[in-house]
Amino acid sequence: MAQRASTLSENSALSFSASTPLSAAESTLSDSLAVLLSSYTVSERSAHSFPPTKFFHDWSLDTIAATPLYSLVSSMPKGGALHLHSGSSGSTDWIVNEGILLDGVHVYMRDSPLEDTCITANTAIPAPCDAPGAQALLPGTIAFFPNSTAVTPGFKPGAEADPVELRSLLTSNAGLKEADSELAWGYFNDVFTRINPIMSYRPFYMEYLQTTFDVHWKDNVQHLEIRALCASGGVGDLFDYGGDGGAVRSYSGQGVIDTYQEALDKFLSHPENEGFSLKLILSSLRVLDPSHIGEDAALAVELKKANPNFVVGFDVVAEEDPNHRTLDYLDEIQAMQKLAADAGVDMSLYFHDGESDDRNNTNMIDAVLLGSKRVGHGFNSYFFPVLFEQMRQNNVVLEVNPISNQVLRYIDNLETHPVNAYIAEGIQVVISSDDPGVFGYTGLTLDMWTALVSFQLDLRELKTLCRNSLEFSGLQGDEKESAMAKWEKDWAAWVDDMNERAGSDWKEL
Ligand SMILES: [Zn+2]
Repeated sequence: MAQRASTLSENSALSFSASTPLSAAESTLSDSLAVLLSSYTVSERSAHSFPPTKFFHDWSLDTIAATPLYSLVSSMPKGGALHLHSGSSGSTDWIVNEGILLDGVHVYMRDSPLEDTCITANTAIPAPCDAPGAQALLPGTIAFFPNSTAVTPGFKPGAEADPVELRSLLTSNAGLKEADSELAWGYFNDVFTRINPIMSYRPFYMEYLQTTFDVHWKDNVQHLEIRALCASGGVGDLFDYGGDGGAVRSYSGQGVIDTYQEALDKFLSHPENEGFSLKLILSSLRVLDPSHIGEDAALAVELKKANPNFVVGFDVVAEEDPNHRTLDYLDEIQAMQKLAADAGVDMSLYFHDGESDDRNNTNMIDAVLLGSKRVGHGFNSYFFPVLFEQMRQNNVVLEVNPISNQVLRYIDNLETHPVNAYIAEGIQVVISSDDPGVFGYTGLTLDMWTALVSFQLDLRELKTLCRNSLEFSGLQGDEKESAMAKWEKDWAAWVDDMNERAGSDWKEL
């Protein structure tokens, strides 16, 4: 028995949270949390309804939200959400209930003519399908038409669209349970095709960003890092009708970054939002050829030089398995690193890699060897334990998005998520939500709750996850210190509050 105890203790000492201290108050809360978690788990298991074993879209979110465990996570100061994408970071309910009612916003619904046609991806006017930047016109496509422009046939004013049907076209659903990853990504890409025109319209995107900031801030998330699509050749460009005589005006590169900065300044102009922060990871797309990525990487260095404190790094996003390998971009990434070194800027990499079940997807190797500061997902790292020591030594952090991993069909039962092994082996991790807009929810609570329940975390581990999200963020210097100080103060107050509520059997939660 002594050997057993010492083996267990050696095992705990390897954990990613082993060096996180707990105060007396935290230890008290840790004990209460363990009781609460165990009671929830036992009762759900005995009813054969334990959510991590079911598909996300079969969960009863209202029932989950009514549990004390969920309230506890909801009120927890969570630090940052470090893995979000432009266009899916905010509220889809806002899009279908408020966004489509904004002046000039129109929706193309199922009962409209012109199916199997194409439109320009920003101004949504009919275009040959082989024209550069043209995209399919799918039911549920949302676009802006100014009074001065003819509305493309089939589009109705937003007020005439059915919000419930539109929501179903903009979010994933229980049908994906039967899909494989490629089919799930196909569904997912259709959602982005539908919202692409309206998200390219700068005034709408500014409003969408306000909701993104707001839903996170109210969900006790103080810092966001968004992978902002911002690349050469029109990728990620925004537009409005502010040119001469209301002509179309484009925003690319610095214009895109200025849009985020303006949205942030607007949010921070409200005193109650003081303490919120945002950083950008400039992103291109893994579907593009190396020569395009080379231009994007060079542009990213220029934009980093011009915005040293707002732009924190570079990534190439999209589904990995059918698209370019990270290795395909090796020359371009190394050229970028040289450009950045010559310019004296820190161009960190945040590669979106290892989001795969495939042993032949070796992107994790390249992400780590190229010096990625964090890795988006890193799901299939279990194939490459040779990397673990380097990841531990260099604090290469995995951004784990549990609900996304399941909806995109990389895993069924979330209890068996490979992150269990990574944290047990001392790899640092943060929890994020990837594309909550497409999954039909907002904020970080649901993913954090999923991690807590699926991986049966304790308070020390929750604290490590929250702390990591600021410690390994792109925040620097004084900004990081004050963000950390705010979080520590909020965390200590939350622990005291929870201990009081635990004393009354969580009744007040
Ligand atoms: Zn992602």
